[in-house]
Amino acid sequence: MKPVRLAILGLGTVGAGVLQLLQENAKEIKRRTGREIQITHVGTRRPRPDLNLEGIQQSANLLEIVRQPDVDVVIELIGGLSPAKEIFLEAIKHGKQVVTANKALLAECGNELFASADQHTVQIAYEAAVAGGIPIIKVMREGLAANRIEWLAGIINGTGNFILTEMRDKARPFADVLKEAQELGYAEADPTFDVEGIDAAHKLTLLASIAFGIPLQFDKVYTEGISKITAQDVQYAEELGFCIKHLGIARRAPKGIELRVHPTLIPKEQPLASINGVQNAVSVKASAVGQTMYSGPGAGGGPTASAVVADIIDIVRDISYTEDGSGTIPQLAFESLEDINILSREEFTTGYYLRVNVDDRTGVLANITTILSNCGISIDAILQQPRLKNRVPIVIMTDPIVESKMDEAISQIQALPATHGEVMRIRLESLDS
Ligand code: NAP
Repeated sequence: MKPVRLAILGLGTVGAGVLQLLQENAKEIKRRTGREIQITHVGTRRPRPDLNLEGIQQSANLLEIVRQPDVDVVIELIGGLSPAKEIFLEAIKHGKQVVTANKALLAECGNELFASADQHTVQIAYEAAVAGGIPIIKVMREGLAANRIEWLAGIINGTGNFILTEMRDKARPFADVLKEAQELGYAEADPTFDVEGIDAAHKLTLLASIAFGIPLQFDKVYTEGISKITAQDVQYAEELGFCIKHLGIARRAPKGIELRVHPTLIPKEQPLASINGVQNAVSVKASAVGQTMYSGPGAGGGPTASAVVADIIDIVRDISYTEDGSGTIPQLAFESLEDINILSREEFTTGYYLRVNVDDRTGVLANITTILSNCGISIDAILQQPRLKNRVPIVIMTDPIVESKMDEAISQIQALPATHGEVMRIRLESLDS
């Protein structure tokens, strides 16, 4: 059988990792696929004397590479939306299978790309786009395929989890830990994508599409970052038996699906609470198997390359199954996607942690509890903290309530003359049903 020929576009952290992994484990991979894999082209803008590129054609013209007849599979690892999208479409048009780690491109333009792939009977494989080294796409698509997925909740951005872990363990402020994360290379110079939850929203978009069989709807994911979380909130949550995690949550609710990324209080005994530092994890509640959790390294050259190469191996096997080498198993059957309503933020139902700084005088707590009660919100716990100057931080945990009711209550609490500063709200999930 002739070798399956690859073009690797982009030789950065992941691209170089993929090249090296394919070269180092060539024998093992051939044993698993029963077929030789040959890298025929790499797309690079500069010479790479640090890599073994012997016998491989090098070019900066990526569009030209994907048109070559001696390329069966294109590995897109340049990242970003453009020119990645144009290159993707050109590769598909020329009948190439595509493997990518580009969550931003798939979350924002995936519907068009998958439709084009369906039309040209090629597949797009993207295990590496969600949670790096954790094979969560395979888990959802294959391992849990018999189940109806109720919800999934994931720590799917390592930088955010590193920051929250440091804030909890060392009582450090957000800005201080962010600076360290940047120095350690975990966070980019512009950390917005990570700390404001955009990266997690990209990944959640992909996970939710597989879990519920819905189109990719990045624009409907409610996204809130962790930059407003204080060391004080982290400490109060601990005292109440919770920890704060930046979660991506997709949940089937009676009237539709909730897609949201935000800081979340979860009970300390929940498995997700034990995921620390840059580690990633996804918990899934599925109808037959119940709750399972998958954890591991969510980024880095090695783990991400491991996921990319696993996709390459799958594609090589698929190509080998078909006699003429053209038929493949589609990743998403577009015609069978469901049109389920995606809920707006006001329609979400969660419990809440509220922190209000108030004047230290009698009657204020009663005013707040009356407002909550009038809005139909029941209180689960109240923690009154020691006085700071002449202010008292009051922490209230509530039972689940629809968010529009909580908006109403917060605006009334905010308007009380005794309230100082912004009322802090953090959503709370027990993750037990
Ligand atoms: P990276 O280190 O910045 O590498 C990107 C590479 O692509 C660079 O070498 C860059 O070349 C090259 N490139 C960009 N535009 C190009 C063009 N037009 N022509 C030729 N080469 C071009 O990024 P990365 O971390 O490897 O990430 C790659 C993809 O994997 C992204 O989609 C990212 O989201 C995803 N991903 C990364 C990780 C991770 O841990 N790093 C984890 C999961 C997913 P120059 O060196 O010349 O700039």
